[in-house]
Amino acid sequence: MTYRELEKMVIDSLAGIYGYQEARSIQKILFEDFLQCTPASYLLIRDTEPSPQFGDQVINALGKLKQFTPIQYVTGFSTFCGFRLKVNAGVLIPRPETEELVKAIVQYCGGQKKIKILDIGTGSGAIAISLSLLLPHLEVDASDFSSDALAVASSNAETLNAGVQFFHNDILQRESWSQMGSYNLIVSNPPYVKQSERASMHPNVLEYEPSVALFVPDDNPLLFYTAISEFALEKLLPGGTLWFEINESEGKAMHSLLTSCGFVNIVAMNDFRGKQRFISATKQIDNQ
Ligand code: GLN
Repeated sequence: MTYRELEKMVIDSLAGIYGYQEARSIQKILFEDFLQCTPASYLLIRDTEPSPQFGDQVINALGKLKQFTPIQYVTGFSTFCGFRLKVNAGVLIPRPETEELVKAIVQYCGGQKKIKILDIGTGSGAIAISLSLLLPHLEVDASDFSSDALAVASSNAETLNAGVQFFHNDILQRESWSQMGSYNLIVSNPPYVKQSERASMHPNVLEYEPSVALFVPDDNPLLFYTAISEFALEKLLPGGTLWFEINESEGKAMHSLLTSCGFVNIVAMNDFRGKQRFISATKQIDNQ
């Protein structure tokens, strides 16, 4: 059997579950990742026979994909801002929306020198590592309460040569704040999906991604945002900025929270799907 025939077999066996288009793109990611080749170099071998090991890898992956395991957990990698990040079930798969948050921060920080950034709840390290690589003159720290996540994030930083410093820290525990320094910019994409939103979510998210990185109680959806805003009041330098990814239904509540904490220049931004997904705010200079 050639690669081309194996392609068809993979697509046919996934199309019933994922639809043809999605099955085709999963097959492409799978082959390119397992072979570590570009689409152009793949064309050169497409009509040759794959090794038995490649066949076994594909069969094994198909079993997982049929059980709705996300493709990124099957290959063990995800691409974020053009960087190849290792992921496993201990971290959330970075989302394309979050790339927009990174781009907005890169644009904001572009001309500035000597800024110190903190990413809270870094997970795979996606935000912190991308910022550090895209803004190599800036200092980037990152924290997470999960040691499994920190292991993934530091391995990604090492592989990609990103000089991020990691802290094991639970932002909800105020006593742990003292180990952290001061920052010019704090960013976070904390858990924000309400338990009641579970019903509308896909099994590949619900059954495989870490619930602790996703869900918040319906009666306290801003749990992490409240803690991080209070942390930012203490740890942001005057004139420093706070950047969040948010639940699209919490824009107004976030605006009130940031206003009541005394932040100014509050700006909400939409994601590429047109949903209110990000918010940034500035710590007043005369607060100090
Ligand atoms: N955007 C993610 C999702 O839709 C949620 C990320 C988060 O909770 N911070 O699954």
